[in-house]
Amino acid sequence: MSSKDKEDHLPGFDAPEDVENSQDETPNNKKKKKSSGGFQSMGLSFPILKGITKRGYKQPTPIQRKTIPLALTGKDVVAMARTGSGKTACFVLPILEKLLAPNSKPLPGKNFRALILSPTRELALQTLRFVRELGKFTGLSSAAILGGESIEQQFSVMSGTAPDIVVATPGRFLHICIEMSLKLDNIQVIVFDEADRLFELGFGEQLREIVARLPSSRQTLLFSATLPKMLVEFARAGLTDPTLVRLDVDWKLPSTLWLGWIAVRAELKTAALLILLDKVLTAKTPQAVVFAATKHHVEYLNLILQQAGISSTYAYSGLDPSARKIALGRFTNKKCSVLIVTDVAARGRSARAGRAGRAFSLIAPEDVAHLLDLQLFLGAELISPSQVKESGSTCPSGVWGAIPTSQLELRHQDIMAWEKNVSEIEDAARVCGRGWQQYIKWREPASAEANKRAKLTNFPVVAHPFLVDETESAAVDMIEKIKNYTPKGTILELAAKNDAPSYLAMKRKKQVHGKTVQKVRDNKKLMVSMYLYHFLLI
Ligand code: AMP
Repeated sequence: MSSKDKEDHLPGFDAPEDVENSQDETPNNKKKKKSSGGFQSMGLSFPILKGITKRGYKQPTPIQRKTIPLALTGKDVVAMARTGSGKTACFVLPILEKLLAPNSKPLPGKNFRALILSPTRELALQTLRFVRELGKFTGLSSAAILGGESIEQQFSVMSGTAPDIVVATPGRFLHICIEMSLKLDNIQVIVFDEADRLFELGFGEQLREIVARLPSSRQTLLFSATLPKMLVEFARAGLTDPTLVRLDVDWKLPSTLWLGWIAVRAELKTAALLILLDKVLTAKTPQAVVFAATKHHVEYLNLILQQAGISSTYAYSGLDPSARKIALGRFTNKKCSVLIVTDVAARGRSARAGRAGRAFSLIAPEDVAHLLDLQLFLGAELISPSQVKESGSTCPSGVWGAIPTSQLELRHQDIMAWEKNVSEIEDAARVCGRGWQQYIKWREPASAEANKRAKLTNFPVVAHPFLVDETESAAVDMIEKIKNYTPKGTILELAAKNDAPSYLAMKRKKQVHGKTVQKVRDNKKLMVSMYLYHFLLI
């Protein structure tokens, strides 16, 4: 057993599968092309692939790549995966495939063949949506049985032609089972979703009771972010030779790599870069590598950094080898602070060989869908600045926040002036603009699903805590308060005596026009927030 296998092995479970090699076991392997790592190569039926395409998934996520082929073989699976990793499709797709198989045809009135147990109503409803969307072209029916909803209606759903797939919370499901003396003999697949939360919420006893009513031939799929002891015991008792699936170590980012996602409009990215470099280049961390989209950006940024007084060098793949060698040599010999490269030339990043490092990514509104896809594939989570207490260098990794606008505006003014007054920079900026249009055309588009989610995602406006010092954050709060302060009286009324002519004139005016003034003020507020809303969405 290799050291990696050892690491993945948990007592009581089969060794983790080498999924690439085990794909031949899939029931539909005859149809399968040589594995290309896509959904097509998993041997899924046409109506299911159609649902996947409709939902906008292009490539399976790492956990899907590992779990789906395994679940399709009919084996019991314990998968360590959390929300946001694409785990739902890991059990929904194999369920759909299993129920579509010719040998799975239900006897009349015995449709109910798959049960998904969720810890909460919200998760169950979300899962039901996935079942319906991914299963749109399969003709399979589905329903939710949830606590807090009309029990009579649920009785009628489960009597007569019951649905093929039920998504349920355990308490209500067991209640219905007992009240209706529901037979679960035809269940072919049971899923415990977010199993650790099912136990945390005290459903352990109900789960055992439900399991006791299931036929022993069923397949069990268990998904959980963590594997506490109680869960391992439950899996050992209720699952048959389960295989444990965890994400490969290679998929994970090094824990020593700190990530900061910086929200900034595309035209302000250069200003944002200067602010970041000012902040991160210190005696302790004197050097940084900057990755840019095209070689034109590399050349442009090199000129900008020189103008800003930051020593830099650059390399990209089209540069002649000796120039590249000299440039890299300057950087490795610490003759300059910044190395600018295209992502094509990017080899070996920060935080290698166990060393700590920070990586910042500048995210414009048009990059959000790509960011969401990236997070899904890294199995990482985006943290909002409001969830974080620490600021400055103690700020945790993974936060997505903005750059304080006051700093950004000033830096942007400098850059605009350089682009206007320094002809070399002016030329480079023009070429860059054209290069960017090409880059946008060439770059791999984000998945349709991520594009949909991006539209629902608020672009951060709160400053990234890394960029905020304690003192600065107090000042920002104060400025916000001042901005939102509306004085009760006008300048004519302040500090004036009650019988002063100016005070009396203002009082009369307020009696006549007070309501109209308030209406205009209210409208103004609405316009500002509408404008902001619009801005957040583009
Ligand atoms: P989940 O972890 O199942 O809650 O999924 C998180 C989000 O990722 C959901 O919005 C899914 O629709 C989306 N998603 C799941 N799999 C994929 C995929 N292969 N490609 C793109 N998006 C996906």
